[in-house]
Amino acid sequence: IPAVNGDFYELGKTLNPKEREIQLKVREFMEREIKPIANDYWNRAEFPMHIIPKMAELNIAGLTYHGYDCPGHSALLEGFIAMEMARVDTSISTFFGVQSGLSMGSIYLCGSEEQKQTWLPKMQKLEKIGAFGLTEPEVGSGVAGGLTTTCKREGDVWKINGQKKWIGNATFSDITIIWARDMDDNQVKGFIVRKENPGYQAEKMQDKMALRTVQNALITLTNCEVPESDRLQEANSFRDTAKVLRMTRAGVAWQAVGCARGAYELALAYTNERNQFGRPIASFQLVQDLLVTMLGDLTAMQTMVFRLSEMQDQGELLDEHASLAKVFCTLRMRSIVDHARELFGGNGILLEHSIARFVADAEAVYSYEGTKEINSLIVGRAITGHSAFV
Ligand code: FAD
Repeated sequence: IPAVNGDFYELGKTLNPKEREIQLKVREFMEREIKPIANDYWNRAEFPMHIIPKMAELNIAGLTYHGYDCPGHSALLEGFIAMEMARVDTSISTFFGVQSGLSMGSIYLCGSEEQKQTWLPKMQKLEKIGAFGLTEPEVGSGVAGGLTTTCKREGDVWKINGQKKWIGNATFSDITIIWARDMDDNQVKGFIVRKENPGYQAEKMQDKMALRTVQNALITLTNCEVPESDRLQEANSFRDTAKVLRMTRAGVAWQAVGCARGAYELALAYTNERNQFGRPIASFQLVQDLLVTMLGDLTAMQTMVFRLSEMQDQGELLDEHASLAKVFCTLRMRSIVDHARELFGGNGILLEHSIARFVADAEAVYSYEGTKEINSLIVGRAITGHSAFV
């Protein structure tokens, strides 16, 4: 029986030896530390806090940033790492994406030199954990023009009022980047809000049916006081928020590849182990047809995100490039995890076989960081010249 390998065109081999070593180190970490506990933590909807120091030893947070103790590697390697994590547990890759991409990325792209010096080295070592608060209970897709959380400057202090929903890591994060509309100039501003700031409260969201290991919070800000020194000094409008999202959306496309790859590999292994009619189910033509359909989609997804990251590394990545990959890869991911579940028969809905977790988690990846519709409209605007947004 050939080895199970979802990287059919061996794209991983194109990484340089140092980067390949890091990719394989992350794979080994995920197999050793996460795989044995993933279903249990998912079932209990708890986060395995003990893995944070072990993950820090991999030295992969803020992977592409230069300076501030960050390693300064390529976006391509960062993509491979997101894929390796999601291949085993999409929740862990989401935790990491929020820390390294959304949260550190906001400070890296929009912070002052002093803010970067203060936070990035500690966040790189995972000594300080971050979150990213943009979505609100009543405003999701429409955040660009519709944010209702307000900020108002009073001397050297800002007062923030409003609520943020779905904020990953925020039940235990040391800081959360909060985006709010300035009541004076009507522009969106970003703030480094510390958990001890007066008027800040984060409450765990219960009963999620996907990414259960990720701790999402409903944050309430009541006259929350933040000093001017903690306002992101280079975030002056929603355009700056969008810069962060462009970078992280490419990462979500890689995450979708990882989730799909994990499901495909589980299904391929299972079809060789499971016998019916006296033969492995992998020997049936219809089963092989399904596996090959999955592999074709998976390979197309991988080659797409590979090129996406090359463009990112060359400074050519536009919003519509990232959005197209997010739409395509999350759609194909959904199809692949469904086929994988089908190949498990009844066992496909039992958590012990893991595939049910992949199916559920895919639903969250499909919707966050811009739904299919919103990302399609971004691409549609670019290719037609007409904006379908109101
Ligand atoms: P809505 O905006 O209410 O959309 C509902 C439906 O309407 C969707 O199908 C949408 O595509 C469609 N729709 C809306 N507008 C249009 C239109 N103009 N044309 C066509 N269709 C449209 N946010 C954060 O800020 N930080 C986080 O850490 C974070 N983590 C998350 C983790 C999880 C597990 C999830 C599920 C979400 C998270 N989010 C986070 C929020 C996420 O980004 C939003 O859920 C997402 O942007 C969609 O917003 P919504 O859920 O409010 O859906």
